[in-house]
Parts: sequence; structure tokens; C-alpha cells
Amino acid sequence: MSAQTRTACVALGANIGEPLRQIEAGFAALDALPGTRLIARSSLYRSAPVGYADQPDFINAVAMIETVLQPQALLDALLAIERAHGRVRDFPNAPRTLDLDIVLYGDLVLHEPGLTIPHARMLERAFVMLPLAEIAPDAGVPGHGTVRELAARLDAGSVAQLRRIPA
Ligand code: ADP
Ligand code: MG
Repeated sequence: MSAQTRTACVALGANIGEPLRQIEAGFAALDALPGTRLIARSSLYRSAPVGYADQPDFINAVAMIETVLQPQALLDALLAIERAHGRVRDFPNAPRTLDLDIVLYGDLVLHEPGLTIPHARMLERAFVMLPLAEIAPDAGVPGHGTVRELAARLDAGSVAQLRRIPA
């Protein structure tokens, strides 16, 4: 890949339809994006819903990609993947077939309408930080520290690591 390749981390979540299958499809779709390849994937986690409790548990994971896509182009591509998997935006924290969030993009700090990097709520979310710590423990969260030390502060009891990655 070209010199402008960046390493980015993308959080995946799903809780309606067939969440395991949709997360798998999400990993494959990331790998299929133009100028992009999947270089690491965490194992899968199960977590209780946040914000709106009356919905199924989530399956979560984190992907590491190398990409030539700029941040906004990457976000647009992620939103297109979500739509292709039937994502409907009903209300905040609503159940979703597939949610793809940019967690880290190299060491970039970005605050733009519609795109905040690092992801605004990643530090409080064990279902993001634990899978992220599996594949990128030494990555820095700009202004905060390493993923390893930030993940260690969270209550790991709120998420369950699934033993096997389904085929
Ligand atoms: P959430 O993921 O917070 O539950 P949504 O998936 O509905 O909510 O995202 C709402 C909006 O969040 C997206 O349309 C996008 O513009 C914005 N957003 C801001 N920062 C990010 C980011 N780092 N990754 C993904 N979406 C982001
Ligand atoms: Mg999202």
C-alpha cells in the first residue's frame, strides 16, 4: 500500500437479526473496502445494552485496518456498510443490525460535525476497550494514555468474551 496508509481501529456492534453473522459480515466488508485491508480482529464479546435497556444483548468486536481512506471517507464507507446490512436509525441507543464506529485513526485528533476521533465515548465502554486491548494494547489514545492502561481501569465484568470465533 501507498505511503499514505494509516492504521485505524473500528468498533463493531450488533444486537438484532443475526448478530454473530452480521459482525462476521462487517469484518469481511471492512477488508473489501477500497484501499483497505483487515490486519487484526479481536475475539467476540457479549455486552448488556447501554442507555436503553429493553433490547437484546450486543455482540461486540474491534477490527484493525490499514487504509488509504481519509477519516471522512472511511466514515462514509462505514455508514454505507451499515445501510447495506439493514441499519435503520430509530432513536439514540436503539437496537441495531450493525454499528461501525471509528475508534482510533492513527494518532489523529479530530473534532468535526459528525465525526469525532478518538471516538467520544470509547474510554467508558468496556465493550470497546477490552477487544481493542486484545489487538492494540500499545496503541495510544491521544491525550489519555495507552489502550492497555485505559482498558485496565474498566469493569471487565460488564462484558463476556466469547470463547470461540464462529466460522
Ligand atoms: P452510536 O454509534 O453513537 O450509537 P450512531 O451509530 O447512530 O450512534 O452514530 C451517529 C453518528 O455519530 C454518525 O452518523 C456519525 O456522524 C457520528 N460519529 C461521530 N464520531 C464518530 C466516529 N468516530 N465513528 C462513527 N460515527 C461517528
Ligand atoms: Mg455508530
